[in-house]
Amino acid sequence: MTKLLEQAHSRLESMSLALFKEQTMDSIGVGLIGTGYMGKCHATAWGSVKARFSSVITPRLEMLCDADDTVARNCAQAFGFTNHSTNWCDLLDNPAVDVISITTPNGLHPEMAIEALQAGKHVWCEKPMGLTLDHASSMTTAAQLAATKGIQTQLGYNYVHNPAIIHAQKLIKDGAIGRVIHFRGQVDEDYMADPLLPWTWRCKIEDGGLGTLGDLACHLVSLAHYLVGDIAKVLADIDTAHKERPLPDSTTGEIGAVENEDMAQAVIRFKSGISGLISSSRVAWGRKSMLRIEIHGDKGMIVFDQERMNELELFQATGDRSTRGFTRILTGPEHLPYGEFCPAAGHQVGFNELKIIEAAQFLDAISGKKANWPNFEDGQKIERVIHGVSESAKRGSWIETN
Ligand code: NAD
Repeated sequence: MTKLLEQAHSRLESMSLALFKEQTMDSIGVGLIGTGYMGKCHATAWGSVKARFSSVITPRLEMLCDADDTVARNCAQAFGFTNHSTNWCDLLDNPAVDVISITTPNGLHPEMAIEALQAGKHVWCEKPMGLTLDHASSMTTAAQLAATKGIQTQLGYNYVHNPAIIHAQKLIKDGAIGRVIHFRGQVDEDYMADPLLPWTWRCKIEDGGLGTLGDLACHLVSLAHYLVGDIAKVLADIDTAHKERPLPDSTTGEIGAVENEDMAQAVIRFKSGISGLISSSRVAWGRKSMLRIEIHGDKGMIVFDQERMNELELFQATGDRSTRGFTRILTGPEHLPYGEFCPAAGHQVGFNELKIIEAAQFLDAISGKKANWPNFEDGQKIERVIHGVSESAKRGSWIETN
């Protein structure tokens, strides 16, 4: 990793600023690595962002890569990419590719991202950044070097781009709930609740890194940082409910060890002094995309749950006590950028639209119109929290995360 960084440093130093000027042209060449769940989501976003956000640079879908040749060829055709490859380095060598989406398993992110930045490509990488804090740190250093040449990074924290969340941030800034005094967050899914579900790369530290912390809790932390501020320390506990799972292709009943945590919870303290609680489970039967936050203020409260992603609940301690209660705010065109997708309030945007908003934000950052969040530097702060939770659980003590 150090060698990669040294190479990145020398190559970036020798590159001219002309590269950034080129990115401000009308179109930008897109490369995509990985075509699974998130790969398809990125491909859809790149393919439709210009139609929804007319002011962004036009993406040209240049090259798609997957480890499997047939999959790569079929996906390139289905999503409209000009070329395909099974070797991700081909994207780095392709001068038509300016920006690369990385949607491969977590363990592959650091090398791919650092080398892509080294090759002068903008990088939109799925979360988490890697498997370890060292990975996040190396990626951040590479991104900081690249940023000096106008090369941008972004992490796939889609939930912060929800018009409801953007509105919640505005309500907080405008003082709708007064001074923020407490944060509570919970992120639960049941995709690994069945103990007989086969073992996957996600269960192995070498390939998946953290468990529910890297998969789910990082999203919760992204919302906490976006809405309340950076988390400064954590006191945590973690557990694994299903310590073994059947190997996927075994006919003889072989099992694989689950090396990372199914559940995690932590008491947190923000840099601002605000206290809070976070918890996460990937084995919570019945929960499909529960990403629930409560932001308590001294004059009210905001509640959001991703399972009802088009609404916010707002309580304001004003007026006659006998008529006070939670207001349910359904998002509509007045909650930017909902109106880019639908002119009618309450008709709802979905998960894939969040990725399109994310793509638009990244294109605006690349063309120098507006800063994006979270880039690798912001993402490193999120990684410090999730790894801090894991470390705190091991040590049984508070861990500084800021
Ligand atoms: P997946 O298993 O569905 O897809 C991974 C893809 O990477 C597959 O197409 C696979 O063939 C490809 N791949 C693996 N090794 C490769 C290589 N060397 N070269 C080229 N392609 C290779 O996984 P997924 O669920 O899409 O997760 C991918 C990433 O997205 C993970 O980091 C995950 O944490 C993240 N993710 C983010 C969200 C979100 O809401 N932002 C949701 C799910 C997953």
